[in-house]
Amino acid sequence: MIRIPDSALVLLIGASGSGKSTFAARHFDAETVISSDQLRGALAGDEGDQHATDAAFARLHQWLDARLAAGALSVVDATNVEWMRRTELVRRARQQGRSAIGITFDLPLDLCLARNAARSRSVRAAVIRRQHDELRRGLDRLDLEGFTAVYVLRNEAEVEGAVVQIEKGPVARAL
Ligand code: GDP
Ligand code: MG
Repeated sequence: MIRIPDSALVLLIGASGSGKSTFAARHFDAETVISSDQLRGALAGDEGDQHATDAAFARLHQWLDARLAAGALSVVDATNVEWMRRTELVRRARQQGRSAIGITFDLPLDLCLARNAARSRSVRAAVIRRQHDELRRGLDRLDLEGFTAVYVLRNEAEVEGAVVQIEKGPVARAL
């Protein structure tokens, strides 16, 4: 059971094709999900345009800060395989006194590659290999990055069987 306070930051962590966006759509309301691909698409007209990455992450951070300040559940759908990107996001949650929950898609490289190849907008295989490698190298240290909890899904069955429970925080007392 993946337990998530309703004011938390949730980081989905995994290579392209590992199933992050599918998982987000299944378990979270659309308005809680902040997607780097969607922001790239909105800014550059192309979700795959890597030149729009800096601008997309600047917007992502702004939007996230506003949601965290309001105590709104915020799910970041980006690869998040780079520890510096994760640390930057976790820091923002901590600054607002929010929990940071990691959900990691540690699925086999071949599965990510096969799913990617079947997509209309596919990423270069070399990019996915690098993302997968970076994720694997960072796995042991995820616990040291300031997350409140990190969940690791290791195969399709674990993803399929995952249960997400969003838990209400204490209700603000009327004055
Ligand atoms: P992302 O790049 O990590 O966001 O991955 P997506 O969620 O876009 O998934 C990549 C592809 O794999 C899509 O075509 C999905 O339909 C497929 N996919 C994602 N999750 C699952 C799953 O649990 N089972 C199966 N069979 N396919 C999946
Ligand atoms: Mg995606």
